[in-house]
Amino acid sequence: MNAMNAVNATHDPSRRSWIESANLPAAEFPLQNLPLGIFLHKGHSRGGVAIGNQVIDLAALLNVGLLGGEAAVAAAASVGATLNPLMALGNQAASALRWRLADLLDRNGCNATDRGRLQQCLVPQADVTMQLPCDIGDFTDFLTSAAHTERHGRLKGLQPPLPPAFKHLPVAYHGRSSSIRVSGTPVCRPNGQWLDDAKVPRFGAVESLDFELEMGAFVGRGNALGKPIPLCIANEHIFGYCLLNDWSAKGVQWWEQVLGPFLGKSFMTSISPWIVTSEALVPFAKQNSAHQASDPSPLGYLTDSEGTSPSSFSIQLSATIRTARMRANGDSGTRISSTSLDAMYWSFRQMLVHHASNGCNLRPGDVLGSGTLSGDQVTSMGCLTEMTSAGRHPISLGSGEQRPLAARRRRNRLECDSSAGGLRLCEFRQLQG
Ligand code: MN
Repeated sequence: MNAMNAVNATHDPSRRSWIESANLPAAEFPLQNLPLGIFLHKGHSRGGVAIGNQVIDLAALLNVGLLGGEAAVAAAASVGATLNPLMALGNQAASALRWRLADLLDRNGCNATDRGRLQQCLVPQADVTMQLPCDIGDFTDFLTSAAHTERHGRLKGLQPPLPPAFKHLPVAYHGRSSSIRVSGTPVCRPNGQWLDDAKVPRFGAVESLDFELEMGAFVGRGNALGKPIPLCIANEHIFGYCLLNDWSAKGVQWWEQVLGPFLGKSFMTSISPWIVTSEALVPFAKQNSAHQASDPSPLGYLTDSEGTSPSSFSIQLSATIRTARMRANGDSGTRISSTSLDAMYWSFRQMLVHHASNGCNLRPGDVLGSGTLSGDQVTSMGCLTEMTSAGRHPISLGSGEQRPLAARRRRNRLECDSSAGGLRLCEFRQLQG
């Protein structure tokens, strides 16, 4: 286990920043988080780190001479419009930057001179527009929740509802990276072909859209073609995590799906803009609880030799719907799902290892999606298709409205967020047009 996989001084919950907005109980970006992203400010996109309600401009930080060694190398790889060069360096570089920033931002660890220089590098988050954090060459979306897969199997009349391979390998489809957008970008209602109620194919603007509440992982250092990644070093290839919404036109998907999802999902996928690094999540690592004693043991390449490496995280996720009526009334919306990463039968490490196991090369910035994170409970379903039994049983919202029937061709705001312990990881807002 290397230092980046163990709890260290950068995680110390007692540390406070001299940037007071980072110390508020509801702060999304406390000193212990320090996520990376690409921000647009005054017409120029470059890399930054979030702290409180500020962004640290890494190019400016280099210029004021507060960085040296590997931290300076990491910042120099982050001054362009994508974080791919930083990701390609391997996680040690981002870790060096994290350690240096934790000290510079610490209320007790930074002298007045350095504080003054760092203050010149701060940009208020209110003044920036977040961009995609990297060029995403490939996007692969997995299917790791057994509850989600079984419910969909039953809705489609599959027997057995859970495919035989599900508990032997992480199932996935190749997604579309060109249409991945950062949270907040409106969704264009897609056209598509689907079977109507009379079982006749139709083409037009789809009548209902679904969301899929997921986490995404960014590949850091890649692997060469023909060179699989062993599980014992899989963490070194995962740069960090985001929240992901795999927008889906399920009617289109179910009719077209012979080789796999295609136009029912490729019209858009949304991700949260800040990448929470693998190191920041170390305190929240936990054993995967989705495996039961009666489940088959994974084959050797998907099994830890020591058998005890934490393979999941203690992360809660939720989805909230705000209809046009709710927004007009100042209503904060109806929470329709509360779920967690416990829904994942396979870990991100196993997903990455399986992906590369045939020799497929993964590249810095590739995204792996967890699949819809539905739990066993009615309250922990991660998409409307499950909540409504494919539209047959509408759900009631706090405003007295129902979904999905009234949702057709209406504009909803869907808000998702995720948190680990007291640490708010990322937030996600989306207009479903
Ligand atoms: Mn999905």
